[in-house]
Amino acid sequence: MDDKRKNKSELISELSKLRRQLKKLKTQPDKRRDNKKEIRQELLVRTLIDNLPDGIYVKDFNCRKVMANPADVHVLGKKSESEIIGKDDFAFFPKEEAEKFIADDRLVIKTGKPVINREEYFIDNQGVKHWLLTSKLPLRDDSNTIIGLIGIGRDITEKKRAEEILEHERNLFRAVLDNVPDLIYFKDVEGKYLLNNTNHLHSIGALKQEEVIGKTTFDFVPRELAEAYHEDEMRVVHSGEPVLDKEEMAVHGDSGSRIWHLTSKIPLKNAGGKVIGIVGISRDITSRKEAELKIQEQLNIIEEKNLELEKARDAAMKASKAKSSFLANMSHELRTPLNGIIGMTDLALQTTSITEEQHRYLAGVKTSAEILLSLINDILDFSKIEADKLELNPIDFSLRDELAAALQPLGARADEKGIELFYDVAPDVSDWLRGDAFRLKQIIINLVGNAIKFTSKGEIKVLVELDHQLDDELKLHFVVSDTGIGIPEEKLHFIFESFTQADSSVSRKFGGTGLGLAISSRLVELMGGKITVESTVGKGSKFHFTVSFSKATAFSPIAQHDFLTGLPVLIVDDNDSIRDVLEKMLKSWRMNPTTVRSGKDAVAELRSAAESGRPFPLILLDIRLPDMDGAQVVEQAASLIDMKNMDVIVISMSHSPGDIERLRNMGITTYLTKPFSHSELLETIQAVIIKRTPAAKGTRSTVSIKA
Ligand code: ADP
Repeated sequence: MDDKRKNKSELISELSKLRRQLKKLKTQPDKRRDNKKEIRQELLVRTLIDNLPDGIYVKDFNCRKVMANPADVHVLGKKSESEIIGKDDFAFFPKEEAEKFIADDRLVIKTGKPVINREEYFIDNQGVKHWLLTSKLPLRDDSNTIIGLIGIGRDITEKKRAEEILEHERNLFRAVLDNVPDLIYFKDVEGKYLLNNTNHLHSIGALKQEEVIGKTTFDFVPRELAEAYHEDEMRVVHSGEPVLDKEEMAVHGDSGSRIWHLTSKIPLKNAGGKVIGIVGISRDITSRKEAELKIQEQLNIIEEKNLELEKARDAAMKASKAKSSFLANMSHELRTPLNGIIGMTDLALQTTSITEEQHRYLAGVKTSAEILLSLINDILDFSKIEADKLELNPIDFSLRDELAAALQPLGARADEKGIELFYDVAPDVSDWLRGDAFRLKQIIINLVGNAIKFTSKGEIKVLVELDHQLDDELKLHFVVSDTGIGIPEEKLHFIFESFTQADSSVSRKFGGTGLGLAISSRLVELMGGKITVESTVGKGSKFHFTVSFSKATAFSPIAQHDFLTGLPVLIVDDNDSIRDVLEKMLKSWRMNPTTVRSGKDAVAELRSAAESGRPFPLILLDIRLPDMDGAQVVEQAASLIDMKNMDVIVISMSHSPGDIERLRNMGITTYLTKPFSHSELLETIQAVIIKRTPAAKGTRSTVSIKA
């Protein structure tokens, strides 16, 4: 108790001592002034500390916080300093992090060595990572003893996040850079490397980025190449314009082999638009370039060859023209004596004193000479065409007459083979034309000649129609069709070439030079047209061709007597097409035709007409009918009716002497050989009628132009 009292009295005396001292201090104006200054400084420091953005705190010897500024309070997610004071880091951070921080604190306190700018992080209770830049300084008392520490923590979370994003982007960029097949490099304005992708490093023979940075192209590639590259780069730097897709030669850094790059160099500009470097992108196009070079080499070779070929062709053409010209002259010279042979043989054949054997030999000579002449004619024409010497000779002509004239000589050949041959010209085709009738006939003779040659049964038709007409110019379309062996499809396209035959075995059988169609097609071209063919093997062929004509300047109408108008005529022919053509012709002359197709029908028709009192004054009778011949028809009819006032015109391909004899005995003397022309038929009919009714002779004829 005494002790206590003693202590109390000691404390009281101590206190009164302090009070005295304080009083003394108050009475000492200087010291008071000093204290005020200290307080002001303390205030200043506190204000400063409280307003600094960095967290500032003081920890005691046991690492407990004795002071924390508002920034530190904020970093720790607290509201006031009082929530912090007296607590250590275990109160604020997860155990592991707290241990780490406290270990640092202890080290500073123990060793007196500060920790400066250490980056550390903690994860708050929301799971968010915070980064701090921490410095820890030892806190000493007057006697220089460490009594704690002062900590400064700067929140660098935002900066760290930005760095992380940047790092991520940098990694992405690098990954892209190193994984594209192209070579990519960045250079500064002097051409020094800043960054290269792996492919580019390898291409210049370097392994690592460090080997290259700060160096230039000159350090890695041969000088002349480097100079060319550098020149381009400096142009990009100075002009600010890119160089795009330039093909340039390069040397591979590892192998030293020659390679090719397709390179673009693009200026790199800063925000102000100033060029601060270039980025180069090169693609290895060696394989494409080599292929191109090979192709180019081959093209050059081909070009050279072409030039040689052209020269050779020109020379050959010159020689060929010379030959053709020689041939044209030669064949002309050959024709003269050959015509002599044919003419003389003809005369010899007409002499009466030769034996039958001699007659046969001479006929053989004539046939052979004629074949030879036709061959020579073909060759002559062909050589003329080849030598560009064939000229057309236009004249006024009657189309129908010329057709008849061309076809008549062929009629006998067709007849020998039992083939019908006829032609039909559409009524709207004018008859009087101007053109090369001789060459037109030549084409027709050739096509029809072939048709007869390659047909063994059936019929051969020549059809003519108007293709189109423009004022006085008209184009006609001719069709020559047969029912012969036909031409295989694969041969169709070259039968118009010279010396070609569809099937040489067939041609061996039929003969021929392979020139006919070549000549015809050239003639058709010369006459402003085109020739084509369609054909089916075993069924027949159809040759189409067109030829341009103009209308004849002079025209020659045929007189048509009006006593023909309404004249009843019986047409007897088994061929449908011929019956049709005849009927059309007669109708165009305003006659009154009736058609029948057999002998039996003819007899029946004649009989019923006679019985009805309107007998036919004229019969056009085909000599060869399926059921009987012409003579038989006349015989049978005559046995039934009176044929006195009837005229019969016998139509045939050729007449055998026996037939003629029989018909003559029946009083029939008028014949027409198929194919005949319009005018021939008309003239024959008129002649027959006039002979029978002389009164008709005085009839004035009306003039009409033959359709
Ligand atoms: P050629 O003188 O050999 O008949 P062409 O030039 O007139 O020569 O004909 C060439 C070939 O075309 C003939 O050999 C033949 O094979 C074929 N040819 C021509 N016309 C006919 C046709 N009407 N029917 C079948 N083949 C034909």
